[in-house]
Amino acid sequence: MERIERAARRIGRDPSEVTLVAVSKTVESARIKEAIEAGVSILGENYVQEAQKKIEEIGRSIAWHFIGHLQSNKAKYAVSLFDMIHSLDSISLAGELNRRAEKEGLTMNAMIEVNLSGETTKFGTEEEKAFDIARRVLNFNHLTLVGLMTMPPYFDDPELSRPYYIRLRELKEKMIKEGIPLRELSMGMSNDFEVAIEEGATYVRVGTAIFGERKK
Ligand SMILES: *Cc1c(COP(=O)(O)O)cnc(C)c1O
Repeated sequence: MERIERAARRIGRDPSEVTLVAVSKTVESARIKEAIEAGVSILGENYVQEAQKKIEEIGRSIAWHFIGHLQSNKAKYAVSLFDMIHSLDSISLAGELNRRAEKEGLTMNAMIEVNLSGETTKFGTEEEKAFDIARRVLNFNHLTLVGLMTMPPYFDDPELSRPYYIRLRELKEKMIKEGIPLRELSMGMSNDFEVAIEEGATYVRVGTAIFGERKK
C-alpha cells in the first residue's frame, strides 16, 4: 500500500484515486483474515465456488470483486456474491448478469475486460467488441458499466506492460468521447502495478506481492 502511494505521488496523482484489490485466489481464509486486519478492504477472486466458500468463512465486512473468467451459467451466483465484476467479456454474459441482478433486486457494477494483446490464451474481448458491449450495457437497468480492465502478457520487465496500459487509457477516453461514461481502469498486477498507476489505473489487482507465491 505504501508502494501504491509512492507511485501515485511520483506522478502527481492523489493516492486515494487508486484502490487496491488484494487477489486472494488459492489463498486460505486464515491468511486472508490477516490481510484484512492489516488493512485490505477489497478481495479479488477468480473462481465462483472458491470465493463462495471464503465469503461464508470471512463474511462481507470487506468487498469481494470477481476478476476471473465468468461463465454465463455462474452469473446467478456471481450477482449475489460479488460487489463488482472486472471481467465482463461478452454481450451474452452482460445480458445474463442484468437478468439475474434484476431478479435479485440489485444493480451490479462491471468493467469490460479488453484483450489488447490478441493472445488467445487470455480472456477478454477485442477493442471493437468492447464498444458493442458498452453500448448494450447502457440500456440495462441492473448492470452499470464503470470502467475497463486489461491483463497484458507477462513480462519480467514492467516497462513492457506500459504500452498496454496506455492503450486501455486511450480506449477509455475514446469511449467517453462517444458518450459512454466510464471512470475506472483496472490494470496492474504485482510485477507492474506502479507502471499501471503512472498510466491512470484506478484499481490495481495485486496477489503475490501481498500473499506470496501461489501454490500451483
Ligand atoms: C491472479 C491475478 C492477478 C494477480 O496477479 P499477481 O501477479 O499475483 O499480482 C491479477 N489479475 C488477475 C485477473 C489475476 O487472475
